[in-house]
Amino acid sequence: MTVAVLVEGLTVEFGRFRALNDLSLAIDYGEVRGVVGPNGAGKTTLLDVISGVSRAKAGRVLFDETMELTRASEAEIARSGVRRKFQKPSVFEALTVRDNVAIGLGAKPGADGPEKVARMLETVGLTSEADRLAGELAHGQKQWLEIAMVVVAEPKVLMLDEPVAGLTDEETERTAALVKALRSPGRAIIVVEHDMDFVERISDRVTVLHEGRTLFEGSMARARADAAVVDVYLGR
Ligand code: ADP
Repeated sequence: MTVAVLVEGLTVEFGRFRALNDLSLAIDYGEVRGVVGPNGAGKTTLLDVISGVSRAKAGRVLFDETMELTRASEAEIARSGVRRKFQKPSVFEALTVRDNVAIGLGAKPGADGPEKVARMLETVGLTSEADRLAGELAHGQKQWLEIAMVVVAEPKVLMLDEPVAGLTDEETERTAALVKALRSPGRAIIVVEHDMDFVERISDRVTVLHEGRTLFEGSMARARADAAVVDVYLGR
């Protein structure tokens, strides 16, 4: 089976500081992978390299075992189906919810565009809000709208950066159900998040990063019982 995202010997430096240190990991299609770890562990830097925002000092990231993301531009990466939802909602507040999702389809939406938008709104539970201005939505609804704007383009790799930060328990619950609904055999989902109960509910496996390296990889249940993980992260 083809690996969706293959990270090989990835090193990223900011000045003399190593944010990622010879990091290797593989994320499969069909998988939801939680990426967790203490502040400064390198989680955001990893997403930055996969999405073309930050450059590697050494090593590489392959998408679909063929495309070298470490040599591609942000635009090429997005066009190839590797998409990221950033932590802060950045919807177009003066446009309707429906039009925001349509923007996610890009310049050539196609004849079935409106239908795709409608289906996407249904998936994220915003059908009843379709004609409201995005600026009027609650924080949680904006998060779901932004997920819809990214997912409507049918990404093969979907990255979610702290999708439940600042959400209520009920909104977090709904987001977990949404992430489960978005998993598919042809898609890898990578979630960076500090809410460990949420991560446990949605992930098949977690990668615990520490000082730019993998400290642990496996199920969240096993991570909770791992002495090193408890020591550097969960025990705090
Ligand atoms: P995490 O997301 O796990 O909290 P980050 O990937 O954001 O960790 O950061 C890893 C380390 O790299 C941190 O110590 C951070 O200060 C540093 N870092 C991240 N981006 C930059 C940058 N653009 N310039 C300098 N240092 C950075």
